[in-house]
Amino acid sequence: MNWADFKRDANLIGGEWVGADGGGTIDVTNPATGEVIGTVPNAGTDETRRAIAAAEKAFETFSRTTADERAKLLRRLHAAIMDNQRALAELLTIEQGKPLAESMGEVGASAAYVLWFSEEARRVYGDVIPSPWGERRILVTKQAVGVVAAITPWNFPSSMAARKIGPALATGCTSVMKPATQTPYSGLAWGVLCEQAGYPKGVVNILTGSASAIGGEMTSNPTVRKITFTGSTPIGKMLIKQAADTVKRVSMELGGNAPFLVFDDADLDKAVEGAIASKYRNSGQTCVCANRFYAQAGIYDAFVEKLAAASAKLKVGPGLEEGVVQGPLIDDKAVAKTASFVADALAKGGRLVTGGKRHDLGGQFFEPTVIADATSEMNFAREEIFGPVAPVFRFETEEEAVRLANDTEFGLACYFYTRDLARAFRVSENLRYGQVGINAGVITTEVAPFGGVKESGIGREGSKYGIEEYLDVKYVCVGGL
Ligand code: ADP
Repeated sequence: MNWADFKRDANLIGGEWVGADGGGTIDVTNPATGEVIGTVPNAGTDETRRAIAAAEKAFETFSRTTADERAKLLRRLHAAIMDNQRALAELLTIEQGKPLAESMGEVGASAAYVLWFSEEARRVYGDVIPSPWGERRILVTKQAVGVVAAITPWNFPSSMAARKIGPALATGCTSVMKPATQTPYSGLAWGVLCEQAGYPKGVVNILTGSASAIGGEMTSNPTVRKITFTGSTPIGKMLIKQAADTVKRVSMELGGNAPFLVFDDADLDKAVEGAIASKYRNSGQTCVCANRFYAQAGIYDAFVEKLAAASAKLKVGPGLEEGVVQGPLIDDKAVAKTASFVADALAKGGRLVTGGKRHDLGGQFFEPTVIADATSEMNFAREEIFGPVAPVFRFETEEEAVRLANDTEFGLACYFYTRDLARAFRVSENLRYGQVGINAGVITTEVAPFGGVKESGIGREGSKYGIEEYLDVKYVCVGGL
């Protein structure tokens, strides 16, 4: 199949591809060209209610399948993704903008999550607990939580769906998913893939349209037993509040403000390599992208110089073009926001070392940017940049670096470079983050738990921990023995 075969302009409800009730649609644009590439349904409350009902009906039978059956289906889903990796990657680049190599990587990661959960599906064990009563036995089993509602973001429109749909399908949950409005096709493609893999109707339902109407029904409908969301902290907080009325389980992957510390004793070239990967992946639009670089005084100037030189070399352009490593930003708002971080920093005494403005290509392209002499008064010290701007702060001592790194309400990912073993342990234990990269700038993998502390979220995705979020623990007491 080619990418156009996956570009569905309909929603999947109970196994039928349908339009919105009123026939309304939303345009989808290619961020590299500004061109409208198609439309998707503008669905709302009623469509969501029907999708939830379809998921509830499918749950009756799907939750009773054996772990082995579910593992087999997931292996078929994995094969469907890998057989179409290139087509899915092209579709992703066309609607999202990231370079094709990154899209290939993301689709590969989606497949890896599915394969991982096909394996985990068969390892959902319970317990037999020693009983305090002679004539009773105590069993603990784990059961699918029920209908899951999933809301995914535009920065990883394929792999964030994988992290949510994968464990749902592994445990016997059924789901209703809403992809981000900017990148709906990579989400709708999961419907095509699930059909190819042979999933029964209603096991996976996918809706596009009004975020507040769909999200409102997802959070208030009592049939939905779990909400899983990846996106901004303000929307996450709102969804938690909305879900409170029906006491749903929630998994939240929210914003970050990742610090990246480089100590005097670091391997500087490795640190720069890690910094480039961590900062500019997806044009800086990931929640684990380094947001604040802290370089120790002894290597500060050298680090800034090397980082700027490497940043200036990055080839910017349309994601489908050969050799491009940085695509456009998702929309014009994102470009304006990135430019405002630069303006704010320069007004407060920041020193522009490279980049700093919209790229000569025009449109939504922005130059990879390095700003030295960053201070805590500048906006990017507190806010997530979500664009290709690397501010470099200076620090003197380890204590100061850790204090600055922790001085945020976020706690998703952090990174640091050192060759001192004792420091590596000390700093890693003192950083209040869910994920720590020591001498590594990109650390996400399906086998490790992804997630944050503080206002960066609740719960973990991927790994053996991720599946627990989709399972309820049931205690069974067998008496009268
Ligand atoms: P970003 O700033 O990265 O776009 P958002 O949190 O706005 O992050 O978006 C993440 C996801 O949440 C998207 O699928 C978006 O459509 C959805 N979303 C936005 N507003 C709401 C809302 N009021 N209710 C439910 N989902 C929403």
